[in-house]
Amino acid sequence: MDAIVLFGIQGSGKGTQALLLSKQISYQHINIGDALRMQVSAHTELGQEVKTVIESGSLVEDDLIFRLLGQIIDPQAKGIVFDGFPRTIAQAEYLSKIYRVKLSIYLDLSEDAATLRMTSRRVCSFCKSTYNTISHPPREEGICDQCGKALELRNDDTKDAIHKRFEAFYRETFPLIEYFEKKGILHKVDASLPIEPLAAEIYSLYCSKYLCHTES
Ligand code: AMP
Repeated sequence: MDAIVLFGIQGSGKGTQALLLSKQISYQHINIGDALRMQVSAHTELGQEVKTVIESGSLVEDDLIFRLLGQIIDPQAKGIVFDGFPRTIAQAEYLSKIYRVKLSIYLDLSEDAATLRMTSRRVCSFCKSTYNTISHPPREEGICDQCGKALELRNDDTKDAIHKRFEAFYRETFPLIEYFEKKGILHKVDASLPIEPLAAEIYSLYCSKYLCHTES
């Protein structure tokens, strides 16, 4: 099965871009962070195991991530857009063994810009719609446009957890740039661009690797 990888520092917008691309090309979108949070909310065994790790901002053990992937990947999917996976070299090797990865996109964003985006991010406590108090505010402050419930800060968008997540990013995930570069499949994009032009650039990168039958 084909897989496309989007990675970058927390707050780089990989979730938004992966969702847009997956819809456009009819691939399954796998956002590991969301999948982990769903396990926590559903109080599953795996959710109990990862809850404190996620809240502290550290990375969840590779084996647990592989177990979760086994549960959520649709074997019938045309392909998969991964967002938040891989985050370590061991995960990248696991991925390369199972999937054909022709395209990996690194969303490049400064730490300052990423911090600003994360501290201004708000998530609906009920339907999980995401907002940003600066770039994408809700119509009424603190209230979800979709379902009218209260918006909140994610548990791991606190200053301490953000610091720890950045450390984990530079230590574990940043080396993936070189890993994918050596495979000849790395493309860097400027993640400070607004959502639409960046989505268009990512789609044209996809078209440069795969045959696109329809225009975006
Ligand atoms: P995210 O929503 O992508 O920022 O992920 C939230 C948290 O989930 C991270 O801080 C990690 O604790 C955990 N997580 C997400 N993806 C992975 C992964 N590929 N490997 C290990 N932990 C992960």
